[in-house]
Amino acid sequence: MYSISATTKLICLLGSPVDHSISPAMHNAAFAALGLNYVYLAFDVRPGRFSDAATAGSQTGEDEGGKPPADFGSVQTALNALKLFDARGCNLTMPLKKAVIPYLDELSEAARLSGAVNTIVHENGRLTGHTTDGAGYIDALKKEDNFDINGKRLTILGAGGAAESIIVQAALDGAASIHVFKRKNSTYAATVNFAKKVTDTTNCAVTVSPMEDRNALKHSIAASDLLCNATNVGMGDDKRSLVPKSFFHRNLFVSDIIYHPEETTLLKDAKAAGCRCANGKYMLLYQGAAAFTLWTGQNMPVDIVKEKYF
Ligand code: NAP
Repeated sequence: MYSISATTKLICLLGSPVDHSISPAMHNAAFAALGLNYVYLAFDVRPGRFSDAATAGSQTGEDEGGKPPADFGSVQTALNALKLFDARGCNLTMPLKKAVIPYLDELSEAARLSGAVNTIVHENGRLTGHTTDGAGYIDALKKEDNFDINGKRLTILGAGGAAESIIVQAALDGAASIHVFKRKNSTYAATVNFAKKVTDTTNCAVTVSPMEDRNALKHSIAASDLLCNATNVGMGDDKRSLVPKSFFHRNLFVSDIIYHPEETTLLKDAKAAGCRCANGKYMLLYQGAAAFTLWTGQNMPVDIVKEKYF
């Protein structure tokens, strides 16, 4: 029987907000099922909340206007606490996925290429950063939908944190080509540089086009095996789809990493056009499963977790 004892090891989620996260429930259920002596807790940590100034004696760590100072002292403090408490590691969510990188000792190849970390493993005072979002996405496609990314041509909408993790992992896992569509705004040039870096490091050509170029989008989708929406468009009450219905074809697998709502307009339209479809809920499950293995060396009992929470 699983119970907390004096030797129970801590694993946690750091970020803000964390109160709606499913990760504690998921991981604690898996530890219990396997009888592993770990506990997973969530801690609200954000830059400036508990700054260097705060550690030096200030009451709140906030400046006089009530705005958090722009330093990252709280991030370093939280990571030092992981070492001090000999925690096994942590997950990271917004806004810490990039902010933690200067404080880590090592990075996995995927974390280095994507410039983001969602999982840290602690070993004898050394912290190694990994990103499992991309691996979770690809595992979900393979294990739940029997779709193997190897050799496939991809069109990806968006170039934010989740998109970059997916692009990197897909390129490392043998995707034939990846065409990214992103708004032509102030971060466009950075996405072009990111695509060049991934292309130079892997055997996969990653190209970028403006989201506004509908003709390029049409041709890219026509030549693709997989279309992935990794933007926020379609989330919550946002009922829009970035893809005209006429762009879908029967050989296209359409995935939306959004899972709320369960079926976005993009997925509704794609299903109506005869495409195979998947939403983002199993990406969430398998990114957790990949982190679980990094910490424990064991496979997460995904069927148990799935039955309880998905
Ligand atoms: P992010 O870093 O903020 O990136 C958001 C992306 O969406 C950016 O590329 C942004 O474009 C694009 N975008 C936003 N509004 C747009 C619009 N009106 N038109 C075109 N593009 C637009 O966020 P993220 O962390 O990558 O998350 C993106 C989505 O994935 C969210 O819905 C999130 O809930 C979901 N997600 C799911 C999982 C899962 O496990 N299933 C994991 C992580 C994230 P610009 O680059 O042009 O600003």
